[in-house]
Amino acid sequence: MSSDEYNECNPVSGWDLHCHTVFSDGTKTPAELVDLAYANGLHGVAITDHDTTAGWNDAVKVSRTRHFPLLRGSEVTAQDGHVSVHMLAYQYDPENEGIVDLFRSTREARIDRARRMVSRLSKDFPITWDDVMSQTKKGGETTVGRPHMADALVAAGFYRTRSEAFAGAISSSSKYYIPTPSPSALQVVQVVRQAGGVSVVAHPGDYSRNRILLSNEQIGALADAGLGGLEVWHRGNGTEERERLLGLARELGLLVTGGSDWHGDGKPNRLGENLTADDVVAQIVERGAILLVS
Ligand SMILES: [Zn+2]
Ligand SMILES: [Zn+2]
Repeated sequence: MSSDEYNECNPVSGWDLHCHTVFSDGTKTPAELVDLAYANGLHGVAITDHDTTAGWNDAVKVSRTRHFPLLRGSEVTAQDGHVSVHMLAYQYDPENEGIVDLFRSTREARIDRARRMVSRLSKDFPITWDDVMSQTKKGGETTVGRPHMADALVAAGFYRTRSEAFAGAISSSSKYYIPTPSPSALQVVQVVRQAGGVSVVAHPGDYSRNRILLSNEQIGALADAGLGGLEVWHRGNGTEERERLLGLARELGLLVTGGSDWHGDGKPNRLGENLTADDVVAQIVERGAILLVS
């Protein structure tokens, strides 16, 4: 296939480049992720927990045992003007000072925000910070966020499911909500580039996450700063948005990726429901600072 062709259609085989584990808000371990990707006949898989590399080592061990290829990545929450943006970052050097600083400061700000939000919630729902932390599968290693608050509310009997809690007290329009402090998307692109990695805007056409999406101009500016690609094949991107994003990728020379945004049992997304073509993965590996694990 030519480089034009593989960018145009949703691949029927390939890699799932967007997967969460217990190291963020997924319900399965990195080992279970790799095992399931292998069992499902994917060509390879990426681990992309929120704002952390903590699950990498566990995933690497199973990947090596199975000789099943693994890309190492993260999903970084960022902001571009009024738009909240998720940035996937792959194959960067995890010891790079810029990346380490970015994750550390984001993490500290997140914990502070989560504590303040739990204290607001606790006025009407008697849950404690410990109740929320006990919902994280990896304690202090987990990137704590609204899913864990939702789970604590479910455990305390206020809601039946995580989704119900998200539609209620955990909703971004509730009076308990505090926005997540985030670096700018431009900063993330620059830091990831300096750390030798490839950055990709996650689900850029998903109106269920954002009332306003990144404009063509905003994506153009990120591309100028070294953005690597756009996650076109994602369940949240509508047909029209996919067309717009494919056009932009063509125009700006960006890679087109796909991923399921798998969270184990935490969300209905099925592992491998959207995929990235092998040729695109090869380019990510070639540009990346670290070796492909296999
Ligand atoms: Zn996301
Ligand atoms: Zn995600």
